[in-house]
Amino acid sequence: MSRFINQTYAKLEAYTPGEQPSNMKYIKLNTNESPFPPSQGVIEAIHKDAVSQLNLYPDPTCQKLKEKLAQLYSVGADQVFVSNGSDDILNFSFMAFCNSADHPVKFPAISYGFYRVYAELYGVRYTAVPLRDDFSLDIEDYTGNDSTVVIANPNAPTGLALSKKEIERIVSANPDHVVLIDEAYVDFGGESCLDLIDRYDNLLVVRTYSKSRSMAGARLGFAFGNAELIRDLEKIKFSTNPYNINRLTLLAGEAAIDDDAYYMQNCSVIAQTREDVQRELRQLGFVCTDSKANFIFAKHPNLDGEALYQTLKERGILIRHFQSEPIKEYNRITVGTKEQMDCLLREISLILNKKDKKEHKNEDC
Ligand SMILES: *Cc1c(COP(=O)(O)O)cnc(C)c1O
Repeated sequence: MSRFINQTYAKLEAYTPGEQPSNMKYIKLNTNESPFPPSQGVIEAIHKDAVSQLNLYPDPTCQKLKEKLAQLYSVGADQVFVSNGSDDILNFSFMAFCNSADHPVKFPAISYGFYRVYAELYGVRYTAVPLRDDFSLDIEDYTGNDSTVVIANPNAPTGLALSKKEIERIVSANPDHVVLIDEAYVDFGGESCLDLIDRYDNLLVVRTYSKSRSMAGARLGFAFGNAELIRDLEKIKFSTNPYNINRLTLLAGEAAIDDDAYYMQNCSVIAQTREDVQRELRQLGFVCTDSKANFIFAKHPNLDGEALYQTLKERGILIRHFQSEPIKEYNRITVGTKEQMDCLLREISLILNKKDKKEHKNEDC
């Protein structure tokens, strides 16, 4: 740290992204990307003509992309916000809708790590609400009308989802605060609360192209809400970086909407693979949550969470391990292709067999 840093940020603990190795020698099941490539339409959208226009700024209003999203999701274009990844939207939302005096913020203690980072970045008073022992949320913890509420639904890294009815209870109980529902994983089996935005002016629904639309590398997120909430976010965007979605990403995002069927088909394959792999893991003795996302959250009674992560890494498979209590016995495993998951299951069986043998040997001695 230099001696020039603004003291406000001196103690800030930044978000730790999952490993992004530059060589592709790993089967990469650690950051919930799609194992499937972008659709043909997206690949064709980034053609030579598009690249040759990179000397020109992109459309800062992103009107065409907004209109396409509005049509696909049956909302008004003025109810859509788009930005450079949903992290960017979360960032703007913490700026726009949180402050210690009137709108402190509340989120689950086990959830997407960025919520805490943004709260600390902006010095907003926050409550990290413990989960129940089974990792479920007690929605009554979020009905106090005393804070902005941020909930990932389905939650990460547990994969557990709340119903639209439960979300509505939280939204209706907090009329004087924004309730932000981060639906990064909703396309894999969650129930969206999107159609509540016409009834509740405090609901903001945040989505991303990173997981279900195979575009993590393009950085594109979108959000739905009451037109005035959207205008607030636009104000923040135009006060920080109006051109924060580049030309190529805009084109890719538009083309992906035209190919929606391709992406939704991929999501259903992933959801099916998740169910199949969870069944096999349970047969091997794992405990898995009832994940509705594109990842599995699992622990084994005879395997240390971190040791499993390390051993798999040595064998060329990357999964995600979190050090924090009470989840450090678990690993989060992105659902890849069937072939990738077969490979994972094979390696896990080998690890378990070896361990069994060793234990027997010890008993013999
Ligand atoms: C991956 C993820 C994001 C970030 O998505 P980007 O659009 O890539 O910034 C946001 N929220 C949750 C819960 C996520 O898992």
